[in-house]
Amino acid sequence: MSKPAHTESTGSGQDQAQPCTMAGGSMLCMQGQGIVKGFAIGRAAIMSAAALEVDHYRILDEDVDAECERLVAAVERAKQDLRTLVDTLPPDAPREMGPLLEVHHLLLEDPLLVQRACEFIRERHYNAEWALTTQGHLLVEQFSAMEDDYLRERSSDIRQVIERVLRVLSGSTALITNMDAVNGYGDPLIVVARDISPADMLRLRGARFAAFLTDLGGPTSHTAIVARSMNVPAVVGLGHMRALVRDGDVLVADGSTGVVLVNPSEKVLEEYRERQANYLRERKELESLRDAPAVTLDGVEIRLEANIELPEEAQQALDAGAEGIGLFRSEFLFMGRQDLPSEDEQYEAYAAVVKTLAGRPVTIRTLDIGSDKTLDGEATVATNPALGLRAIRYCLAKPQLFATQLRALLRATVHGHVRILIPMIAHMHEVRAVHQAIEAACRELEVRGVPYSRNFSVGAMVEIPAMAIAIEPFVEALDFFSIGTNDLIQYTLAIDRGDADVSSLYDPMHPAVLRLIAYTINAAERAGKPVAVCGEMAGDSNVTRMLLGLGLKEFSMHPQQLLDVKKEIRHAHSNALRVKVAAALNRAARIDLEELAR
Ligand code: PEP
Ligand code: MG
Repeated sequence: MSKPAHTESTGSGQDQAQPCTMAGGSMLCMQGQGIVKGFAIGRAAIMSAAALEVDHYRILDEDVDAECERLVAAVERAKQDLRTLVDTLPPDAPREMGPLLEVHHLLLEDPLLVQRACEFIRERHYNAEWALTTQGHLLVEQFSAMEDDYLRERSSDIRQVIERVLRVLSGSTALITNMDAVNGYGDPLIVVARDISPADMLRLRGARFAAFLTDLGGPTSHTAIVARSMNVPAVVGLGHMRALVRDGDVLVADGSTGVVLVNPSEKVLEEYRERQANYLRERKELESLRDAPAVTLDGVEIRLEANIELPEEAQQALDAGAEGIGLFRSEFLFMGRQDLPSEDEQYEAYAAVVKTLAGRPVTIRTLDIGSDKTLDGEATVATNPALGLRAIRYCLAKPQLFATQLRALLRATVHGHVRILIPMIAHMHEVRAVHQAIEAACRELEVRGVPYSRNFSVGAMVEIPAMAIAIEPFVEALDFFSIGTNDLIQYTLAIDRGDADVSSLYDPMHPAVLRLIAYTINAAERAGKPVAVCGEMAGDSNVTRMLLGLGLKEFSMHPQQLLDVKKEIRHAHSNALRVKVAAALNRAARIDLEELAR
């Protein structure tokens, strides 16, 4: 990922908005989180934020009832609008849209929001807008303080539904306040907003904006989810962008680095126009690779699969040309909720993916909870959760929960090719316990007369160094392997992958890590068992050649990374890479990626 060229910051170093100097002049630079790659150059179109412009006044005693009714009527109208949107969703609307709109509808039905707001009207004589935003702030604070990332980000849903009701109360439903004026420039428009609700995204979509920039939101926010599915460059978490930018300002947005430039000089604009043209050309070339085989120059066939976290992403994986699902992180079905998903609910989710993949392999990882991923309502008291009761250790300690998941997985086998993947295995007795649990789940289904197929395989994540070092018995006992480099690096180098203070020591290229990967690949290959890498390294096209040099033939990654990796593979010479990489590893020397690219 490239940073803005020649940037010389003169700001405080910590702020998201800083004056900066590039060749050709000074301008405002903002740093957010790039969530959809691509460049956009255009004019700012500021989205109205009713919540920021709310009037605060007290009403008379005799007006209390009418004010409450005004609020309730506005909420009803907002609900109706959402219902109409759900009922009339265009066929090409992102798949996530319906469920997201339903969440907003549910929030508006929550008595906590409207009843409490009415109490503010009755008890403090606040006007409806003030009452609603007061209660909204309280709810947002509660959600923002939650530990779980998913729930924390739901505070943005509350803000968004409040915006919606406030717009109804104000009588103005225009999203872009000065649309006519900004349209007058005749340039592409870039939406600048505090936050964008899914419903507003739907309305904005029709107008074909060049990018979406928001002050709030993170990579799992709804703006992010919808923007990704629309494939429009987007940067979130920009802090105070909306306050600093005016309608019609010239903006440059880089969806990879998260950098936004405000009113850059003509010279900088020219440079970004060139970057944009190059990027578009490359994307076009990449698209043409979708159906091309992933084969090296010397004819080695490579398998490219996709990592997914939710069943809905299975189609995206196919659209990107994935040959299967190499990692379905099932824990996302369990997170962000107070209860556990039932066997039926899990079965539906697994079966949906297996059916979508229509016979291609679907690798479903059993629950990997613990460490940075926790279940709601469960305190994480371990002093070092990454080394604690995580993943398979957790499942074996909770046999009922594990048995439920295994039955759901087995039931999904009737719809296609299921591979059960076990995380965090370090001991052979864990493998034996897993096999016993699977057998017990099979028997229980037989007793219940529920169909399943015996045609499934059981494999393990290789992510604890102990397993990689002493892999031989595991290779005998299991059907396939997937190297989880994210954790393998964490445990090999003794650095917490979530701790920013040691992130500079997180080194995927450390010879010790690479030797463990090489050893695992060789051992599995000798036994004729498939082995993949499904950690972040698999999707990083900068290290594709190095992984080929280690002998890797199966990669699993986020669907968006697939074509970049395929391109590298098609330009690589596997044998030459293997010789170079082996020579470096023998000396435990660092591998020079630039040399591999030559
Ligand atoms: C890994 O550890 O590399 C992996 C793919 O699993 P996760 O990132 O979910 O721990
Ligand atoms: Mg892992």
